[in-house]
Amino acid sequence: MIVLVVNAGSSSLKYQLINMEDEGVLARGLVERIGAGGGSSLTSEVTGKGKTVLKAAIPDHRVAMQMVFSALTDKENGALTDLSQISAIGHRVLHGGSVFSDSVVIDKRVTDTIQAVSHLGPLHNPANLMGIEAAMHLMPNAPQVAVFDTAFHQTMPKHVHVYALPYSLYSEYGIRRYGFHGTSHKYVSSRAKKILAAEGLPVEKQRIITCHLGNGVSFTAVKAGKSFDTSMGLTPVEGLVMGTRCGDIDPAIMSYVQSKLGYTAKQADDMINKRSGLLGISGVSNDMRDIEKKTAEGHELSQLALDIFCYRARKYIGAYAAAMEGLDAIVFTAGIGEHSPAVRSKICQGLEFLGIKVDPEKNQNCRGECNISAGTEGIRVLVIPTNEELAIARETAQVVCGETGK
Ligand code: AMP
Repeated sequence: MIVLVVNAGSSSLKYQLINMEDEGVLARGLVERIGAGGGSSLTSEVTGKGKTVLKAAIPDHRVAMQMVFSALTDKENGALTDLSQISAIGHRVLHGGSVFSDSVVIDKRVTDTIQAVSHLGPLHNPANLMGIEAAMHLMPNAPQVAVFDTAFHQTMPKHVHVYALPYSLYSEYGIRRYGFHGTSHKYVSSRAKKILAAEGLPVEKQRIITCHLGNGVSFTAVKAGKSFDTSMGLTPVEGLVMGTRCGDIDPAIMSYVQSKLGYTAKQADDMINKRSGLLGISGVSNDMRDIEKKTAEGHELSQLALDIFCYRARKYIGAYAAAMEGLDAIVFTAGIGEHSPAVRSKICQGLEFLGIKVDPEKNQNCRGECNISAGTEGIRVLVIPTNEELAIARETAQVVCGETGK
């Protein structure tokens, strides 16, 4: 079974073609500057055949999708002889509101609902829909599946997902914690779930914290295999310190910068989403590699950014251990979580009282999936690489034929 995974943004479209027999990537690519009126291109890479860049006018997502299909079936450089080899298409969709708690086969009702909850993800949902409509138009007979970033978190109990605001904001307007990065949290937690179960801890008793530390950062408390709490909220800005997002702040700061500093609502929103986090504190970069390098060179504000980043992470681990009444494993994943031993070690420092102890050598030498905890007792500290595209492909295969296709 071959699955095409599509992640459509407002001016870009990323894709991967995955063979579910061995979960190998047959092709991948990116269409950029869709509708920009110039400079548009498709960069495609077919495994074993190398990269091709095609520059062309790409006015909309239908043209972009058509170019992707042509590239995939190109006689010389393609990955397929015929489009009918694609069994299903999986679409990443940001927001499923309170409606979707699982991936679904897309029909008119589903696209209408994605549209109806677009006010919750105004930058992403309309773009995701453009990708879906283009793919459905060009391949009407292939089943198309929507995989939502919010779906995994729909199991959060009410006392966890309702904000302490006037209740009508929740009941009438759907203002609540939704959470994001659900595909990644589900993927790495299900791997951790298997590791713990193999060690004799049944899933019903498991308490895991998954730490997605990438440019966006979110932690999830996974209790008995289900999302119990997560750090992102109505939007992805809540919670941990991120590359350019501030995470938790006093909400009164938003009205302060507007009434006292003359910011417009849009400027205040840009401040917390695009000019804060590692970039905002350090004044140097949103990229953890730069922050670590500058810190080593003695740059004080980079050191401060790193300290705040790791302190907030440690605080969330403590909070989620309390929320779940105990802890069995922590999982580090995504760009920083998978590749920065220094950040992993700094986050875990001082958590020995909880039973969290990192082995410095295992931590330093970890490549791919590893258990970096010291000894065999106490809480497992795991590094598990995330793979969002593969997770979407697996979900798609499962929804379409009730199995992973493996
Ligand atoms: P992602 O959003 O998962 O692609 O992760 C992006 C983040 O991972 C950026 O902040 C990168 O700086 C960070 N990252 C990637 N590789 C490393 C590394 N070797 N050391 C530290 N941070 C890294």
